Amino acid sequence: MKHEPIPLDYCGDCNCYLNIPIHLQKVRQAIKKTRNSTPGADGISANWFKKLSIKDLSSITSFFQEVFSTSYIPEEWKHSIIVPVPKPNKDKSKINSYRPIALTSVFSKIFERILIQRITHHLLIGKKVPAVNGFLPPRDNHLAVYKIHTAITEAHTHKKYLLGISLDIKSAYDSVYIDGLILKCLRLGIKGNIIKVLHSFLQNRTIQVRWRNSLSKTKNVQKGLPQGSVVSPILFLLTYKFSETQYKACNSIQTMALRVALGLPKWTPNIVLMKIAGQEVLSEKIKRLAAQFFIRQLAKGTQSPIYDQNCKPSIKLIKKDEVLIANLFADLDTSTDHIITFPDTLSSRNNFCEIHFSDFSFQNKAHPVFLIKDLFEEAVSKEFYDYHIIATDASKSHSFTSIAGISNLQSFVYRIHPINSIFTAEALAICQALDELSVTDKNLLLLTDSYSVLQALKCLTIKSPKVIHRLAGKIFVRKNFNQKICLVWTPGHSLIHWNEKADLLAKTVTESHPFIEWIASEDIISHFQTISLQKTNHSFQNSNYQESIGDIPTMLTLTPWLKNRREDIIIARLLTRMIITPALLHRFGLHNNPCCQICNCDNNIEHIILFCSKYSNHRSILCAKLNFDLQLCPSLKAFFQNAVSDKRHLRILLQSLKSFDIY
Ligand SMILES: [Zn+2]
Repeated sequence: MKHEPIPLDYCGDCNCYLNIPIHLQKVRQAIKKTRNSTPGADGISANWFKKLSIKDLSSITSFFQEVFSTSYIPEEWKHSIIVPVPKPNKDKSKINSYRPIALTSVFSKIFERILIQRITHHLLIGKKVPAVNGFLPPRDNHLAVYKIHTAITEAHTHKKYLLGISLDIKSAYDSVYIDGLILKCLRLGIKGNIIKVLHSFLQNRTIQVRWRNSLSKTKNVQKGLPQGSVVSPILFLLTYKFSETQYKACNSIQTMALRVALGLPKWTPNIVLMKIAGQEVLSEKIKRLAAQFFIRQLAKGTQSPIYDQNCKPSIKLIKKDEVLIANLFADLDTSTDHIITFPDTLSSRNNFCEIHFSDFSFQNKAHPVFLIKDLFEEAVSKEFYDYHIIATDASKSHSFTSIAGISNLQSFVYRIHPINSIFTAEALAICQALDELSVTDKNLLLLTDSYSVLQALKCLTIKSPKVIHRLAGKIFVRKNFNQKICLVWTPGHSLIHWNEKADLLAKTVTESHPFIEWIASEDIISHFQTISLQKTNHSFQNSNYQESIGDIPTMLTLTPWLKNRREDIIIARLLTRMIITPALLHRFGLHNNPCCQICNCDNNIEHIILFCSKYSNHRSILCAKLNFDLQLCPSLKAFFQNAVSDKRHLRILLQSLKSFDIY
């Protein structure tokens, strides 16, 4: 792939730590850290540097400073000698059996170490450490080892399986796009001379290959990070992003993991595997999670770290994710502008309004409805006689999602986007009522039958749904009018005339009613999750397997059926028709006769369980226990559907399998 050069602006603050003058002490530290391995083309070893006098070291320091301020890198520093080293136990006549070792100038390595020390410091204090283990103190390899150890111990104590997968990224350094990397560094605040020097160091490098004491011609390298360089590992971590091929690798890892977890043989079709595990394809899931993250950030609005001082998102999605989100919103016939965001001022303080769930006797659902009605009227005339009363409701029908509000002065009805949950709708109804139906000269009594909205409002935290923050914001504004606001829960359908009216109103909604565009990010995300899982079901239903296997129950999130791994594996194999039978073994050349010796027909699972005359006695007993009429419905599909219908049936089936010579 050819990359276009990017116009880059290196400008930065010269006084910042990244660009301060190089100190002799730092040169000394860098030398100390450099191992005495094979030197580069100049033949100068690390040990030579270790023996230098202070005078020599200070000349080196001033030389480094000159390189740093002019960003002129000596040609020798950008030159590597590649030595192919054979990998153990591999065919030495093949080029792939060699690991290239790059020898670079130790002089350069010491300089690089000074640069990298500054960059790491910058990343650490800015807490911009990439979420990958290795090379950086807070995320070093010890932490990775510790994490793995914890995971193993935990799995062991809970008698669970832990699956470890090791991955190798093919030609990782070679694929790095230098201008893109520098841009990324600039965005991380690595600016000024340091980045100019680094860019110059990474560009126009040269290599020679050494083979049995002879050197090849010099070749220019235009892309990739230099092998054997001190700066490469950390720079690689900064740029690392999943490629399309790696996404695909994720899918193979996922199916492999599911096979092991479910105990299904490797010839189980992927579609069947995904269906029984109730999983979505991992590469799709990764993309979905990225899109969800972005939607969540949009909903956080200016509160999100991705927004800069000018209230514009400071990161952009990659093209594909952008298309994914655009398609999602186009399918929903809406746009990201309509996502409900945090209000400008967060109302974090509590008790900005009164919320009553159970303080009144009418708030007891156990009472008969006429009593609730009477108790309500009594409470209002006693406690709220001088309040302006507003009732709201939301409704979700097959055709519309709507909100309504009513006071004794006026009312409203709106259609809202059907993606919104009833929770969002109820909260939106109260928001709208505060906008349209409130008065300023009286205290407000808001009636709603949504217990969950009031509860969410009462327990307001930064993590509360955005619509609740919006509602809190609207209530908070009323403080300026010196108004008291009471939100009171009323039991639904309890003949309280206010609520009955709001309820009826919400249900009268038609196509001609005005539309409010607001959508809750939480609802979009859960919708996104649902459609993503449906894809697995669809691909199973559209495959040939549905025909032969029938509907397979999903082992939701891999929760075992019978709490016994061995038994669960048998069930999974039975349901996917992957249980070992002579016919199946024959298919893979492991059995010489695919036919039943008694009945002379294909000796598959269907024959064994439903038809083989050898097992007719066992069969009648089993069918009687399962209450299954084989004459009425002679299909394995129906038989299994009965068997998995409850745990007792599953147990019965498992216990009788032995008499069928299966398991
Ligand atoms: Zn038979």
